[in-house]
Amino acid sequence: MTPLQQNFWLTTVEMTKPLERPLPEHVDVAVIGAGFTGLSAARTLARQGATVAVLEAETVGWGASSRNGGMVLTGLKLGVNKLISMYGRERTQRMYAASLQSIDCVEQIVREENIDCDFARCGHLEVACKQKHFDDYARQVEVIAREFNHTLRVVQRHELGTEIGSDIYYGGMVDEVSAGVNPARYVAGLARAAERAGASIFEGTRVEGLEREPRQGTAGWRVKTSRGGLWARDVFVGTSGYTGAVTPNLQKKIIPIGSYIIATEVLPEALAQELSPRNRMIYDSKNYLYYYRLTPDRRMLFGGRAAFFPETEGTIRESAGLLREGMVGVYPQLRDAKVEYVWGGTLDFAFDIMPHAGQLDGIYFAVGYAGHGVAMATYQGQKMAEWIAGGKPENPFVGIPFPGAPLGLYNGKPWFLPFAGVWYKFLDWVN
Ligand SMILES: Cc1cc2nc3c(=O)[nH]c(=O)nc-3n(C[C@H](O)[C@H](O)[C@H](O)COP(=O)(O)OP(=O)(O)OC[C@H]3O[C@@H](n4cnc5c(N)ncnc54)[C@H](O)[C@@H]3O)c2cc1C
Repeated sequence: MTPLQQNFWLTTVEMTKPLERPLPEHVDVAVIGAGFTGLSAARTLARQGATVAVLEAETVGWGASSRNGGMVLTGLKLGVNKLISMYGRERTQRMYAASLQSIDCVEQIVREENIDCDFARCGHLEVACKQKHFDDYARQVEVIAREFNHTLRVVQRHELGTEIGSDIYYGGMVDEVSAGVNPARYVAGLARAAERAGASIFEGTRVEGLEREPRQGTAGWRVKTSRGGLWARDVFVGTSGYTGAVTPNLQKKIIPIGSYIIATEVLPEALAQELSPRNRMIYDSKNYLYYYRLTPDRRMLFGGRAAFFPETEGTIRESAGLLREGMVGVYPQLRDAKVEYVWGGTLDFAFDIMPHAGQLDGIYFAVGYAGHGVAMATYQGQKMAEWIAGGKPENPFVGIPFPGAPLGLYNGKPWFLPFAGVWYKFLDWVN
């Protein structure tokens, strides 16, 4: 059976449909993008009394926010030793603390806004593809306990059966604080919460230009959109992997990378229990990694970077076969399971694989989540909103160096992705 090229999560939700209405003439803040980043910012800003227009080129949650694995993860993409070498102990401690707070932030919003999105603190499991990856887990656990006062647990190979029904790995590392969520339901709930707080969301409204323009003596922006213009005192950009030419200097710092997911048919209860006895969010230790989990209705959702390019019909079709092969490699028990859905989405990687937030050319932004965006995007949206509203929130990702491409060899069109794909596969082979 050929899987449907459709995002499984979208079959589980009635996506929020904002009211159709004309654009306002002016607002305090124009937010570009209606994903976790933009909607979280809009909710916080509106709650603080700002007038907010969320301008979304497509529909609510259309970007990565409805398409992801729903893993609400602690930590950052880079390892802790690397982080300490880049930023020093003190800032790394604050970054790690922010990553833990970002999970609390999602949980608090889900509770406060009563969002029905299967949020559960089920923990995550990282599995080692090589003995040396496993050997490094003990070192990481020790550093994280010492430096960040956070407890992870190493799982020896002979105990791994309590965590996962696969015997291909060399051991694992568990973090009980991470969570799982249905991302499409979460982003729909976040949109409703932003609207309830007083923000207006405009779908089908692509921002096409931003120009500085004062109004009645106040500095601000003329925002040109596919549906006409409006004036905003401040602009906040939450366009992630879909960042385009409207913010050219931001676009040059973000590499859009495709990630793809398949979902099987609903599995028998005993089989699901065997595959993931503790219902963890699971990913492996490679650069070119697989990530997988059970859905709340017991499908195996299995993702990876089967192609590096952002999603097209072709890359999605190709990914279905590659991911199925990967899934059966991990779980031979799924050899006969039907794959019912396949879809893709675009992630945003900065050149240093770090989240970044701040102001560029006078425009506020938060980007660079590199596959850790469910929690971090929500958190950054909130923190940046507090800043725009005049506060001074703690945000260790503001002010760190935000590198562009080496030698400036990048104009926003990622010509090097095929080479990056080969490079990562090479790194996985040698490391
Ligand atoms: C397949 C996949 C799996 C993933 N799995 C996980 C996971 O399990 N855990 C995790 O933490 N993270 C995961 N991620 C990453 C996570 O989904 C993202 O980091 C997060 O959703 C980013 O949210 P955002 O709001 O910043 O951007 P997005 O949700 O991508 O939203 C950006 C929006 O901006 C809009 N836009 C762009 N340009 C304009 C314009 N000019 N005018 C108006 N609107 C515009 C787009 O239409 C889009 O809707 C995954 C991502 C993908 C693609």
